[in-house]
Amino acid sequence: MKYQKRSSEEQIVMSISAAGALCILPFLIIRIYNQDWHIALLNFSTIAITSGLFAYVYLTKRTLLARWLLSITCMFIASGTIWLKGPDQIVWTYPAIICLFFILPPNIAALLSAFTVTLIGCLLFSDISLLDNVRFYFSSLITFIFSYAFADRMLYQQAQLMILSYKDPLTGVGNRRAMEEQLISTVQLQRQRPSHRKASLLLIDLDEFKKINTQQGHACGDNILAQTAALIEHLLSSDQHLFRFGGEEFVVLANNDLEQTINLAENIRETINDFQFEKGIHLTVSIGLAEYQFDETSFEWLGRADTAMHQAKAAGRDLCCLAAS
Ligand code: GH3
Ligand code: MG
Ligand code: MG
Repeated sequence: MKYQKRSSEEQIVMSISAAGALCILPFLIIRIYNQDWHIALLNFSTIAITSGLFAYVYLTKRTLLARWLLSITCMFIASGTIWLKGPDQIVWTYPAIICLFFILPPNIAALLSAFTVTLIGCLLFSDISLLDNVRFYFSSLITFIFSYAFADRMLYQQAQLMILSYKDPLTGVGNRRAMEEQLISTVQLQRQRPSHRKASLLLIDLDEFKKINTQQGHACGDNILAQTAALIEHLLSSDQHLFRFGGEEFVVLANNDLEQTINLAENIRETINDFQFEKGIHLTVSIGLAEYQFDETSFEWLGRADTAMHQAKAAGRDLCCLAAS
C-alpha cells in the first residue's frame, strides 16, 4: 500500500477528532447504563461528528471546513455538558479552550474561547457561589493566556523556519529550493498566459573561482561569494530575483523583455569586473542568458541557460552569451 504523507494540519484535526471520539465513548456507555438519555444523546452526537470529521479529512485531505466544525463541536460539547449536568462538569472548559487554539489561528481561537467562557459563565452564574465564579473566570483566563502565547509562538517559529528554509545561509539570497519553486510558478504563468510579459534566466558562474580558494583560502572564497551576491542584488529591480544555484553559480530570474535582461547581464558582468574585492582580488563572471520559450519545462529552460553559460566559458570567459531558441 502506498504511504500517504499528511500535512501537520491534517494530523492535528485527525488526532483531535480521534482523541475526542475515544475519550467521550466511555462516558456515552456510562450515560446509557445510567439511562441518562439527554447527555447520552449529546455524547453520541459528538462521537458521530468527530468520527465523521476524522473520515472526511482522512479521505479528502481537506481541513478548512473540518477545523471549523471541530471547533464548533468543542464549544458545543463543553457548554452543552455543563448546561445539562451542572457545575461538576466545569473542567471540560479547559480542554475546549486548548483545542480551539490548536485548531484555529490564535486571534480567531481567542474570540471563540472568550465567547465559550462567557456562555459557560452565564450558564453557571446563579448555580455557584461568587467565589467559585471568580475561580472559574481566573482559571479560564490563565488557560486562555497560556494557550494564546503558545499558539502565537508556534506560528512565529513556523514562519521563521519557512524563511530559513528558502534562504542560502552564506549569501542571504534565495536558495535552490526557492529558485525551483519560483521557476515552476513562472513557467505555469507563462504557459497559461503566453501573452504575459516575457521572463528570462541568467545563469552566472564565477570564473576560475577554485584558484581563489587555493591561493587565498576557503574563508576568503566565502567572503567573495557573499560580496558577489550583494553586488548582483544591488543591481536588480523588484521584478528580478537572485538565487544561489549551488557552489559558485547564481541564477537571476528576470520578468522583463529580452532587451532589458541583456542590459542587466552586461551590467552585472561589468560591475563585477570593475570591483576591487578584498586582498586586491579581481573576479570575472560568465553569464548564460535564456528567454522562456513557450511550452518548455523549467528544467529545459535552465538547461539552455547552462549551455549558453558554457559557451561563454569556451569563448574565453568574462562574457555574456544568449541561448539559442
Ligand atoms: P570555471 O571558470 O571553469 O567555472 O572554473 P571554476 O574554478 O570556477 O570552476 P570549478 O567548477 O572547477 O570550481 C568551482 C569551485 O567553487 C570549487 C569549489 O571549491 C568552489 N566552491 C563551491 N562552493 C563554495 C563555497 O561555498 N565556498 C567556497 N569558498 N568555495 C566554493
Ligand atoms: Mg561552476
Ligand atoms: Mg566557476
